[in-house]
Amino acid sequence: MTLCLACGADDAGDGPYHAACLLELFGVATVPAVDVEVARLHTLALAMVGRVSVSGVQRKLSVRLTADRATLQIALGDGRYLLKPQAGTFPNLPENEWVTQRLAVLAGIEVPPCALLRLRDGTWAYVVRRFDRLEDGRKWAMEDFCQLAELAPSGKYDGSAERCGKLVRRHASEPLVDLLRLYRQFVFTWWVGNGDLHLKNLALVRDDDRRIRLSPAYDQLNTRLVLPDDTLAMPIAGKRDNLQTGAWRKLAENFGIGAKAAARVHAELFAALPAATALVERSPLPEPMREAYGALLRARAFG
Ligand SMILES: [Zn+2]
Repeated sequence: MTLCLACGADDAGDGPYHAACLLELFGVATVPAVDVEVARLHTLALAMVGRVSVSGVQRKLSVRLTADRATLQIALGDGRYLLKPQAGTFPNLPENEWVTQRLAVLAGIEVPPCALLRLRDGTWAYVVRRFDRLEDGRKWAMEDFCQLAELAPSGKYDGSAERCGKLVRRHASEPLVDLLRLYRQFVFTWWVGNGDLHLKNLALVRDDDRRIRLSPAYDQLNTRLVLPDDTLAMPIAGKRDNLQTGAWRKLAENFGIGAKAAARVHAELFAALPAATALVERSPLPEPMREAYGALLRARAFG
């Protein structure tokens, strides 16, 4: 069976995409060509100061579909899609991000439609449809947690899980619902070794029903595949590493989540473990990364 490089299911027939998945992402059942000069994108070198940020070295291109939906091209204004090609500094980030987004779905987390696309030079790029840009040109209002906390972008690491909970409690239309969603996202972040969940990688959106709610999850990847000792960007109960049940209990209490509801989150992740490791195993990541990713998921799941 063929792995669908959009949804991650392994029944894509001739593949490598379900026609329905292409339709959902691009509005057409064929794979668009990517009209982006790849050679210029692989020469990225950044002098990194302070904390090494993996997503910070990953270049995001705003792209749009041509009217015939056959080609993705650089958008001069607002593109409906973001394209992330390989970054020179760290290997395999597009594959890493795609796998991690598919794992999020298995863990019950909302993510925007996304896929891996093969560029002309044979490398993989990650493409995602922006959830805050709608088909008819309308936009969802969106504010990331850095803005909500009234911090400059450079303050994106001055957060904690508890601070994020406070922002949701203050601003979300249904704080109890979104605090549970946020709790799940922190558990997931730990599970997949994402050391780059900072204040700019969480946001509230005002959706079509004018509800203010936690946005679909974005910019998630296993940073430990490229920085093996990477820890959480934002502490949970004061801890960035070695999270045990005590820290999760404290976070659930801080968020006002009952013990049963919190236990269900962990149990659901644990139940997703076989599907999660199978997906990682079949993914286009190179073998050592597949092994490391699977080992981390097995080590950190409990329920
Ligand atoms: Zn699919």
